Amino acid sequence: MSDYIVLVKQVPDVTQITDNAFDPKTGTLIRSRLASVINNLDAQALAFANQMRRDSSDQHSKIIALTMGPPMAEEILRYSLSRCADTVVLLTDKALGGADTVATANPLAFAIRKIAVEILKNDNDYYVVCGMQSVDGDTAQVPPQIAEELALPCITYVTKAEFKNNRFEFTRIVSGGSQVVAAKKLPAVITVAKYEYPVFATFTATRQANRAEIVRQTSDDINASHIGVTGSKTSVIRVFPPGKSSRKCQQLSDVNSLAKAIVENFKSDNGESGQAGKTQAARYILPAKRASLFDRSFEGTKKEQEDYDILTSQLRELGINKISQIDPATKEKILATADQHFHKKTLEDMLNGLQLTEPTFRGEVWVVAEHTDGAVHPATFELIGKARDLADSLETKVGACLAGCNVGPMATELIAAGADNIYIIEDKLLSISDPAVHRKAVADCISTYWPQIVLFAATPWGRVLAPMVSYRVSCGLTADCTGLDIRDSSRKGEIGLLLQTRPALGGNVMATICTKNSRSQMATARPGVMKRLPPDQSRVGKVIRHKPKISNEDSTLEIIKTELGTGDVNFNADVIVSGGRGVQNRDNYDQFVGALCDSLSKKLETEVEKGASRAAVEQGFAERMHQVGQTGTSVRPKLYIALGISGAIQHMISVANTKTIVAINSDPNAPIFKQCDYYIVGTAEEIVPQLVEVLKEE
Ligand SMILES: Cc1cc2nc3c(=O)[nH]c(=O)nc-3n(C[C@H](O)[C@H](O)[C@H](O)COP(=O)(O)OP(=O)(O)OC[C@H]3O[C@@H](n4cnc5c(N)ncnc54)[C@H](O)[C@@H]3O)c2cc1C
Repeated sequence: MSDYIVLVKQVPDVTQITDNAFDPKTGTLIRSRLASVINNLDAQALAFANQMRRDSSDQHSKIIALTMGPPMAEEILRYSLSRCADTVVLLTDKALGGADTVATANPLAFAIRKIAVEILKNDNDYYVVCGMQSVDGDTAQVPPQIAEELALPCITYVTKAEFKNNRFEFTRIVSGGSQVVAAKKLPAVITVAKYEYPVFATFTATRQANRAEIVRQTSDDINASHIGVTGSKTSVIRVFPPGKSSRKCQQLSDVNSLAKAIVENFKSDNGESGQAGKTQAARYILPAKRASLFDRSFEGTKKEQEDYDILTSQLRELGINKISQIDPATKEKILATADQHFHKKTLEDMLNGLQLTEPTFRGEVWVVAEHTDGAVHPATFELIGKARDLADSLETKVGACLAGCNVGPMATELIAAGADNIYIIEDKLLSISDPAVHRKAVADCISTYWPQIVLFAATPWGRVLAPMVSYRVSCGLTADCTGLDIRDSSRKGEIGLLLQTRPALGGNVMATICTKNSRSQMATARPGVMKRLPPDQSRVGKVIRHKPKISNEDSTLEIIKTELGTGDVNFNADVIVSGGRGVQNRDNYDQFVGALCDSLSKKLETEVEKGASRAAVEQGFAERMHQVGQTGTSVRPKLYIALGISGAIQHMISVANTKTIVAINSDPNAPIFKQCDYYIVGTAEEIVPQLVEVLKEE
């Protein structure tokens, strides 16, 4: 019977941020000022593994908790022992610090191998159980990359496990619905998206946990191939505070003001709010095409920018506009004046950088297309829009990698959306959504053509495929980017780098990341963040067929059941009224969402559509096709009304481009109140009937 290796991580407690946790100068969060706790999703994974052990009625199966971290991470191992772990392993070594996801997944995979041999005595019947993601990194990349290193099946976003016919069947979240799957072979990696039944510690278990022995491993013990900063394939180049929400977040105290705000905002046409209102940055131009030698689109620290400005103003003063004009005497002159600002080495680096005009990376800009039942995922079109922009800056082509069975007909749409070359990989084995088969096919195609940039949608599918593919082709990957720009680096003379900007630490800071030690720069971007271009049917593209080396042995998952939403929903309506778990039941959903849709449609003389949160769909209040969100549909109406919706990122990201967001919620601290334009505190039962009455009045 199965054993369980549960991965746990110690993280800063981002739910308890005090004012002094922010650096007053930079406005960024100082991690060391936050308390350390077990990553909540890992605590859920631990409880989930415990439930799996119970369901399989196996008294002898073991739960081993493994963490990689500083010596103080021992605390979360004792937490695990006091709940349900039998053995705990601490992988700790200074050399492991500063790691990105590759340099985290790699040593953890090596540690798992060692545990399998030494503790599980080579019994391969085990699951590696992980939380979906950690609150500090938020990437969800480590578990799929561990699966890739160990060549194991990977089942992500699991919400339920059922023990049937002597094996586990897992329900996982997929784009547009859910799916029941089983691993064809063990060991397997699973990531837990949500589990609401925590295990509590008893007094006796806590005492025993405090005395128990912790198995310790160091970097030398595991002999991993990628560790620490040197083994990482990405580096953080800038951390900065997130921009303030452009939403008004205005509380309204009565239903009359709410009705007035709804009607007035709907009728006023003063541009778009949210993401869509952002001004466009100037397009990057390759150095060889720029008017002046000094006209560089540099990215670097504040000091590096200042150094560069000093250097260029000096060069201008000396009348230099060609690198060949800089002789040793000129260098000395510059150094003499700029002495207090930078060292000779810095000057040499900057001058060397100025000599370079060719891009550091070569090749096309690719998007890995996602599709279901012959329909391309909207996020793919958005990414092609972004890829077009990046490729035009870099003077290269946009490629789309389209893997599946009978996918050819989708090529025309991808070309109309902005792609130049469509790389089609067709095989019967690709007809099912097993990331193990797809990752092999896509990685094979990438390493044949080597695009310089590869983008994936940060959907449940893209968030498992991208980490596996990038790990397989030894490239860095940045998850969930909200910004992708091209810049040069001021010190290193790197030209045309992809700057990947994303939120971190639960959205409390923003980080800009660059790829290193890789042939391709890879990123995932959240659906709804990039903008789709209007389709141009006159565009002409090329179809290139790629034959991957895949076989039945690559298939790791059995798909038992898929439930996807289908039907007719007009999410292009001007107004969407969505109900969440807070509406309590199906009758309330029909009554309140329905009544508000009818009265708004009459009052505003427009089409109004019903939406729902994932939780409302899972509770059976609404059909799957009405789901708004990361795994439902991204919408951008003029007016979005959220009834009893808390404001989880997976929901809000898909309404970010809405002009006006109105929230009705009974919790005065509901997170949605910080992400909307107008809100009223109250229950749906109390507010909606009054609002409907007021809207009926002239
Ligand atoms: C991979 C992945 C993909 C996901 N995709 C999506 C997605 O596409 N869409 C999506 O929505 N979610 C998605 N989720 C789930 C998401 O994280 C949240 O769990 C979900 O959005 C919560 O829905 P909710 O706000 O309706 O429920 P809850 O978070 O439970 O919030 C209910 C809210 O109702 C309020 N409330 C309670 N009673 C009342 C009342 N009587 N009147 C008014 N308010 C009341 C409460 O205060 C609370 O704020 C995804 C999660 C994962 C892991």
